[in-house]
Amino acid sequence: MELLINLSYIVASILFIFGIKMLGSAHSARKGNQLSAVGMLIAVVATLLKSGLEYQWIIMGLIVGTLIGVVAAKKVQMTGMPELVALFNGFGGLASLFVGWSEYQNIQAKGWSVYTANLPDGVNAGFISASIILAVLIGGVTFTGSMIAYLKLAGKIGGSATVFPGQKLVNFLFMAAIIGLGVFFTVAHEHPYAPACFIIIVAFSLLLGVMGTIPIGGGDMPVVIALLNSFSGLAASAAGFVILNNVLIVAGCLVGASGVILSVIMCKAMNRTLGNVLFGGFGAAAGGSTKVVEGEMKAITVEDAYYVLESASSVVFVPGYGMAVAQAQHAVKELAECLERNGAEVRHAIHPVAGRMPGHMNVLLAEADVPYEQLCEMDAVNPLMPSVDVAIVIGANDVVNPAAADDPTSPIYGMPIINVHEARTVFVLKRGQGAGFSGLVNTLFFRPNCRMLYGDAKSTVTALASQFED
Ligand code: NDP
Repeated sequence: MELLINLSYIVASILFIFGIKMLGSAHSARKGNQLSAVGMLIAVVATLLKSGLEYQWIIMGLIVGTLIGVVAAKKVQMTGMPELVALFNGFGGLASLFVGWSEYQNIQAKGWSVYTANLPDGVNAGFISASIILAVLIGGVTFTGSMIAYLKLAGKIGGSATVFPGQKLVNFLFMAAIIGLGVFFTVAHEHPYAPACFIIIVAFSLLLGVMGTIPIGGGDMPVVIALLNSFSGLAASAAGFVILNNVLIVAGCLVGASGVILSVIMCKAMNRTLGNVLFGGFGAAAGGSTKVVEGEMKAITVEDAYYVLESASSVVFVPGYGMAVAQAQHAVKELAECLERNGAEVRHAIHPVAGRMPGHMNVLLAEADVPYEQLCEMDAVNPLMPSVDVAIVIGANDVVNPAAADDPTSPIYGMPIINVHEARTVFVLKRGQGAGFSGLVNTLFFRPNCRMLYGDAKSTVTALASQFED
């Protein structure tokens, strides 16, 4: 049976790897997802075949987890997806913390000598103790860090950074204490103080998650989300070492590694280093820029915007978080088709941090069946911008703020943006004077070639499309 279980784990791991590889292209992504799901099913069934399991707890967990999962997924609005993902990351971390904790209790009940006698060759009590500490540390940080990220994304607490004097020192002391206590626990797990030491590590890890996430704000949140996602995988992997479950180790490493890659992509998208994001305190001071904005915001009506669009031969849509709020993706596809029928070349330019989660805009446009060939990455579209007749910004703000390029005093200075201000005409579709996630003034709106089309993005885009159809 042991051999069959391990063989199943190998098959499951291979399916995970191929599944992830297939996620790399829009055409194969759905199949990749299904392949990984089959891998997960095989892993779960194989794990349930293990001897010595208490099925009543597993069934209770399954029922409670399924109920919460189904209700949460059904109830969540599309705009609430990023928060849900943050919560899922957090609960993944909490689960790993609990695995580490319960295994430690299990060992204490048995006694270390009895437990060690049953360990496979090459694994000793020190290794298991270190794995327990890692599962608890990374799991704890992931749980509370994700809860803070959730509260920020849901707007339940301010999105800006919370910094106070000596904060880095406090965080460093927490980390140093955890490492010190962790080393003590690893080498002296049978010491009478070891259980107390363990509890302190749990508490400090939970605190470190809060302390590490509150100083990160504004435009840096995408990196935190990607990093916490990575941590949830690493915590699962550490939990896999604790209970010596191979498939958990492999799956955790895959999530951990892909999360790190995503964090690096997000950092690149903002032209920041990981260290700068984690310790820079972005957005702590609201406003930030000292430059006075010149010019005025000029509004335009749907009818006048239609006349400009009617004569445009190249149009670029730039979606942002507002498109998700308005659920305007289907209307955008309709308008794009009208423009194409009218002879215009249409592109959709996607900024890597647009929206509130990695890939947010890609998901929405794919849902509306926007042709994949029309999607352009920032680096590909920016050189074309000066020859674009109209750039239509749909509920995007921070990702098109020219202050990032030309105002050295702006907190987002240096962050690559989609250069819509270089297009001949820019239409910005938003409801009013609301700021973007970073809370900064957008100098684009004051440019002479920019016109504001106020209103909910879906209604405005639908009204524009119906002008073409009339
Ligand atoms: P922003 O959050 O900067 O701006 C969104 C704009 O949409 C607002 O200015 C708002 O203006 C407008 N809006 C909201 N609702 C509607 C509506 N119904 N119709 C029309 N407009 C609407 O979005 P961006 O996508 O430009 O930038 C993303 C920001 O979020 C970046 O700062 C990024 O760092 C951050 N972030 C990204 C994450 C990711 O993983 N992608 C994760 C966490 C944060 P108004 O209220 O006036 O309508």
